[in-house]
Amino acid sequence: MDRAVLGARRSGVLGPPGTARENERLMRPLYQVTELLGDGIGAELSRAVHRLADALPVQLEFLEVDLRLENRREKGKKLYDETVEKITATRVALKHPTATAEESPNAVLRRRLDLSVIHRPVYTIPGVPSNFRRELDLDIVRIATGGTYDDPGRMIGDDGAVSLRIVERRPVREAARYAFNLARKTGKRVTSSSKYTIQKATDGLFEQVAAEVARQFPEVPHSVELFDAMLGKVIMAPEKFQIVLVLNEYGDFLSDMACGLAGSLGIGASANLAFDHSAVVRVALFDAAHGTAPDIAGKNLANPTAIFLALSLLLYQLGEIAVGQAVKNATLDLLREGVRTPDLGGKESTDSFSDAVAVEVARRLAPKPRNV
Ligand code: ATP
Repeated sequence: MDRAVLGARRSGVLGPPGTARENERLMRPLYQVTELLGDGIGAELSRAVHRLADALPVQLEFLEVDLRLENRREKGKKLYDETVEKITATRVALKHPTATAEESPNAVLRRRLDLSVIHRPVYTIPGVPSNFRRELDLDIVRIATGGTYDDPGRMIGDDGAVSLRIVERRPVREAARYAFNLARKTGKRVTSSSKYTIQKATDGLFEQVAAEVARQFPEVPHSVELFDAMLGKVIMAPEKFQIVLVLNEYGDFLSDMACGLAGSLGIGASANLAFDHSAVVRVALFDAAHGTAPDIAGKNLANPTAIFLALSLLLYQLGEIAVGQAVKNATLDLLREGVRTPDLGGKESTDSFSDAVAVEVARRLAPKPRNV
């Protein structure tokens, strides 16, 4: 029997073997997910994810890979080979925070899996202190290669320096297709943003490819904004923007600005994406923005919000949009009601917060009783 079933039975979501409740559960769609175990609060976060997963109307079978520092030191490159193989097979992975020592697992996986696009949702989170008075809900889709970041540049004599700015059709097409697909699934609109009036070749090519992809999604509203103007508008009228497609450096700036506005630097999650030759997502790795928090590890104090938001993104990727939305909305609504862990001024433990989210998600997704 798989772990998900065992866990579900323990938590009371499932009845004993052979009962209608268990049979119903076993009929649920089954997805395999590679789970990368991490350091510090990683163990608590993994437990939290399993508690929540047991309450979902889909079966997630987690194939674990131990990426804790000790195991990385013992197994070295072999462990990364195994990790890449598993992720390539399951196509989706959930990664817990890992300590950076000899190497950064994030950097190794980015390189080995060719993760070239980052989807970073940023929104105001109830209970997270922020100077910003408005509600923000942005999905930033950033091409994570090229731009000015792939060329360190060089000096020209003593007083000048030059660097190349690289924009390529392929990654732009991949990111654009991802952004428009996300818009199609969620009913949102897309804004592509750059400085195409000045950077005519590079940003012009970006907007040209974005427009080509937009034509394949006629039902998705698409607009173009100059990047500098958009920064001002995100602050003054954040409701105008939903999914924003941007080149590498613009995405870097925009993510930090948006996180600063939302005050949620530590609560964010992201999807890191790799594509096949037809610009279809080949693998997607989801993680929380925060680190391993060694100061609170093992104390049942860790806030699992970010990893739940990462799980919600993973469910979107699996096509389980309603389930993904329920995970996100239940988590945020509980925070709004004051059900919070100590880092947000609350009294809940990792376990009790996770249970509260699990119960709320199950309640929201329970089949409605039929009228007789
Ligand atoms: P690393 O070296 O892995 O980045 P760090 O401690 O330098 O670890 P974070 O892990 O991001 O950086 O932690 C910064 C602070 O935020 C710490 O005080 C930590 O306890 C707190 N923190 C981070 N993540 C969480 C979380 N999920 N729940 C509660 N507190 C957290």
